[in-house]
Amino acid sequence: MSATALSLSGRTLGAGELQRIKEKGKQWAVLHAVVMRPQNDPSSKSHVEYAPMTLFPSPLPRGVLAEAKALQPYFNRLIHQVAHDHEYLWHCLHNVVKVDDYTRRLWDIYTTVRKEGSAQPLSLGLIRNDFMLDVKSSCCEIQGMPQCLELRQIEINTIASSFAGLASGIWKVHRFTMAQAGIECKPEQIPVNAPAEGIAKGLLSAWEHYGNQSASVLFVTMEVERNAVDQWWLESQLFSLSHNVCVRYTTLQYAYEHATLTDDKRLLLDDGNEIAVIYYRDGYAPTHYHSEKEWDVRLMFERSKAIKCPSVHLQLAGCKKVQQELATPGAVERFIKDREVCNGIRNTFAGQYTLDQGPEGDANANMAINDPSHYVLKPQREGGGNNIYGDEIAEMLQKMGSTEERSAYILMERIFPWPQNNHLLKEGKPCDLLEVISELGIYGVYLGSAEEELVNEEVGHLLRTKAHTDNEGGIVAGFATIDSPLIVEAPCVK
Ligand code: ADP
Ligand code: MG
Repeated sequence: MSATALSLSGRTLGAGELQRIKEKGKQWAVLHAVVMRPQNDPSSKSHVEYAPMTLFPSPLPRGVLAEAKALQPYFNRLIHQVAHDHEYLWHCLHNVVKVDDYTRRLWDIYTTVRKEGSAQPLSLGLIRNDFMLDVKSSCCEIQGMPQCLELRQIEINTIASSFAGLASGIWKVHRFTMAQAGIECKPEQIPVNAPAEGIAKGLLSAWEHYGNQSASVLFVTMEVERNAVDQWWLESQLFSLSHNVCVRYTTLQYAYEHATLTDDKRLLLDDGNEIAVIYYRDGYAPTHYHSEKEWDVRLMFERSKAIKCPSVHLQLAGCKKVQQELATPGAVERFIKDREVCNGIRNTFAGQYTLDQGPEGDANANMAINDPSHYVLKPQREGGGNNIYGDEIAEMLQKMGSTEERSAYILMERIFPWPQNNHLLKEGKPCDLLEVISELGIYGVYLGSAEEELVNEEVGHLLRTKAHTDNEGGIVAGFATIDSPLIVEAPCVK
């Protein structure tokens, strides 16, 4: 029995009862499409299994969720404006592109298309902004609730933000497991959450703005995709909104053979199917580009008049280096004039430090070498499993010394989130009661050009929970599980 649930309910469950709820929970996950391709057979075209998930929802103070959601439209606008500010992007990334080949190749595509003149002024952002709740060491606990939780941004994802589908189903599973356990909670404590619908609306808006009823939305996916059903969720929501939109799927490799660009920059797939919107669920890591062919396709797509989600400059704006630069004094203020909004955004920033060559970078590197457990070392990568923690930080920084290689990384203050107890259900793994920590994601949709904002919305949330002992997150990576918030009151949350 989860100690969390225990403290809310005041009752304990026997081992048999707990086992029954676990089995029912798995059934409800399948029933509500909280599923993935099997871990041991991710290339299967016909099998799925319940996704890694918590047995019960995890407590989240009402004020924290409300604050994160209220800030999301401002974060959406901020990142969109950063993406459209060439001078600022260069200011952030000029040292990174010297040493990080992947970022440089994206930069080259961006500047090539910029010089030619972009065929499509609109860019679609389907964003997920990730946070942890930092517990300050000075905190006291009252009735198991820390009294100074602080919302801290971990990163903002501008490409292939996933799990909106599974997040749209898990709250139904958790309402059921809580009821099965006889734990009283009001339905609104496990709120309705429909980010897949919100994201589908974003895709639909982009498709409508493209302005050709017979053009399709193209999902660019991997050949082997464990999280395929999460993508089907979006397709299904899009179908519910409009039967007129055709969704096609491609890999970058397939597009190399089967996609063409017309003289007027229309993107065609197979036998002349025009593409209105390109939605990337691939291409966000160097390993996704097996040869020059995938890079050629990325350039062709960027040149096209299809609306990209994201356009390459929005992907660049999501780099960790940009996040670190935005945390320097005056940076947010370059884009947002309202002081209260600036402060709201800034209050969620953890300490972030440049590692560029020079005295400041040297001092920051030394600070981490002397106290590595309080930092995370981050390269310009997405998708989990790339960050460096603990003593390895000191080793890496010492090895790099003050070479320019160091500017491929940024240093971030390590967040120590509020620990809870929960059961993590993972196929083939023991499901004991563990100390766990959670990461809150907020989904945002933004459609606009450099001058005009057409759509700007917050569309839902995701909670991911992992064992306290795991550094990295990532559900597909095998660490985290999908969760939902159990809304609790916390009067003194900062
Ligand atoms: P990625 O783009 O690879 O997902 P993230 O910045 O989101 O990179 O980091 C991956 C995971 O590492 C996060 O989901 C979180 O669990 C952990 N993490 C990242 N930054 C911090 C931090 N500052 N403090 C504690 N944990 C962190
Ligand atoms: Mg992440």
